[in-house]
Amino acid sequence: MGLEKSIRYLKGVGEKRAALFEKKGIKTVGDMLYFFPRSHEDRSKVKPIAECDEGETVCIAANVYQLPVDRYVRRNMLITTMLVTDSSGVMTLVWYNNRYIKNNFSDNEKYVFFGRVSRSKQGRIQMVAPVFEKFGNERYTGKIIPIYPLTAQLSQKIVQSTMEAALAEAGELAEYLPESIREEYKIAEINFSMRNVHFPADFESYNIARERFVFEELLVLQLALALRKGSNAVKEGRIFEDIKCVREFTDGLPFELTGAQKRTINEICKDVKSGKQMNRLVQGDVGSGKTAVAAAAIYTAVKNGCQAAMMAPTEILAAQHAEGLSEMFEKHGIRTVLLTGSMKAKERRAVLEEIELGIAHVVIGTHALIQGTVNFRDLGLVVADEQHRFGVEQRAKLMAKGSDPHMLIMSATPIPRTLALILYGDLDISVIDELPPGRKPVQTYAVGDEMRKRVYGFVEKNIAAGMQAYVVCPLVADTENSDLKNAEELRDKLAAAYPEIRIGLMHGKMKAKDKDTVMEEFAAGKIKILVATTVIEVGVNVPNANIMVIENAERFGLSQLHQLRGRVGRGGDQAYCIMITDADNEVTKKRMETMCASNDGFYISEQDLKLRGPGDFFGTRQHGLPEMRIANLFEDRDILRLSQKAVKSIIDKGLQNYPLLIKRCEALLSDEVIMN
Ligand code: ADP
Ligand code: MG
Repeated sequence: MGLEKSIRYLKGVGEKRAALFEKKGIKTVGDMLYFFPRSHEDRSKVKPIAECDEGETVCIAANVYQLPVDRYVRRNMLITTMLVTDSSGVMTLVWYNNRYIKNNFSDNEKYVFFGRVSRSKQGRIQMVAPVFEKFGNERYTGKIIPIYPLTAQLSQKIVQSTMEAALAEAGELAEYLPESIREEYKIAEINFSMRNVHFPADFESYNIARERFVFEELLVLQLALALRKGSNAVKEGRIFEDIKCVREFTDGLPFELTGAQKRTINEICKDVKSGKQMNRLVQGDVGSGKTAVAAAAIYTAVKNGCQAAMMAPTEILAAQHAEGLSEMFEKHGIRTVLLTGSMKAKERRAVLEEIELGIAHVVIGTHALIQGTVNFRDLGLVVADEQHRFGVEQRAKLMAKGSDPHMLIMSATPIPRTLALILYGDLDISVIDELPPGRKPVQTYAVGDEMRKRVYGFVEKNIAAGMQAYVVCPLVADTENSDLKNAEELRDKLAAAYPEIRIGLMHGKMKAKDKDTVMEEFAAGKIKILVATTVIEVGVNVPNANIMVIENAERFGLSQLHQLRGRVGRGGDQAYCIMITDADNEVTKKRMETMCASNDGFYISEQDLKLRGPGDFFGTRQHGLPEMRIANLFEDRDILRLSQKAVKSIIDKGLQNYPLLIKRCEALLSDEVIMN
């Protein structure tokens, strides 16, 4: 088949153009076919001149009536006009500053012209700079024409004609998608779709064709990811016989769980009783109460006779969790220990022994948990908090310390459900989309540099009233040619301006111990203003801090801004988030508007996806997602949902039964784009 053939052998391509196509990643005829148009131009309407209405975009088929005439209106303005006629009327064609246009036409020849119909000052019907070709074998008029994404030095005409050649060369295409899937989801056949996605008979056919390739792209992507994760078999899991016991724990909490928390706990309980290994991602906005949910799961595990481990991304967070959970568990006779990298050897040895003997039921820790020296008596549940900081590998290492433990992943970075389905195709997802009652939304403002004095005046006033504040800067140390407010410099400035206020500094380059000290002092209310980089983004909980000032806010993505804002508003007091930025580009403006308009992390992440485009979301590199060729993860949510179902049914039946699909998956996985 011709799909493997290099496009340089196609008519009109050659070595030079082939090199240009290669820059777009197009080497073979097959690559070419999957280079999809960005849009289409409707050139299908052909009308007699007499029936052309002003404002419509149409084709006319007409003879040259009067050859082009040049006329200079100003020194630099050349106007060329030509009169054409069909049996119904005469039309004027106009070109501006195109001194060569007249060479294209000969007397009395017939052409097809495509353009927008307008009226000249004199009231004559005209077209300005129409597309044209000789009548008789039209290729680019009289139909719907594909417009391709910009290709350096390759004109639309070249890409269009190369595409036609590629379609001809490819001939009859083999169908990748199983017939049963196509029937069930009403997906069009490949040959119809390929023709119509490029050169559609009409827009309805185009939509049907496009849908097929969106479906195909999402299906292949998800199957490829499943192959890569090697997780298409559901593993056996241990069974927690007694799940009702969770009530003892939840009834003892000082608050009533939200509906979303209850639902999530129910989902978890169902998993751990099912006999299959639980692999669940819990997504919840900052402050939605994920810890209580994790604690309920841990309680159930321990009451069913095994140990539970919770991995946190930072020492601060691990310590905070250990403290909070010990308090919740103590009265139930459950022993919680903390294990971190900075513990003294002796202390560490004692903790390790407790873990090994099973005296410690719950182990909270950082990466220190996955070290070789840590042995559990019987690890039955692993909880990873703030999952995006952990790699799949680290998760796997911790899992390996138990025999088929259940896995719960907590994420405070809500991502659009559509994307979650792709990124976490191997996980079940629970969503905590409800905040505990009585929370006041954080009042959010975006201000320019000139407001800085007032902002800090406001901070000072709140501190005088007993509150505390965070100030976040993008970078630690000044890099050359950077005008970012660096954290150290800002701390010094603030210290000079407010000598009575104690100001702390925290950044990623500090030792863990020093960070802890600063954090403790901030939590204890000794430090009033904490100047920090984004190290405080994750999880930190100081309810008395009610102001978040973000300097150079344009440097942060929407999701990050939202995370930062989540550090405040944890107490009962009205909280404020003030973003300072002088940047006024469109994307920054939209981000600021979105932040000011909403406190909902899911909404914000959807907007983030929309603003950045799917390719950019969290950086594709981080997730190893390839660039989408045709699917739009934001707009094609419905098709994504369908494809998700299809993926499930294919995996259930066994991917090995679909050799053509496997081949496509392997091609995608070996693609440079996906392997970065
Ligand atoms: P996150 O989801 O960001 O991890 P946390 O678990 O830290 O949120 O919870 C934030 C705060 O809300 C904690 O102080 C917690 O005690 C409290 N909280 C959790 N659930 C509820 C609830 N149902 N009602 C009232 N307060 C709650
Ligand atoms: Mg949390």
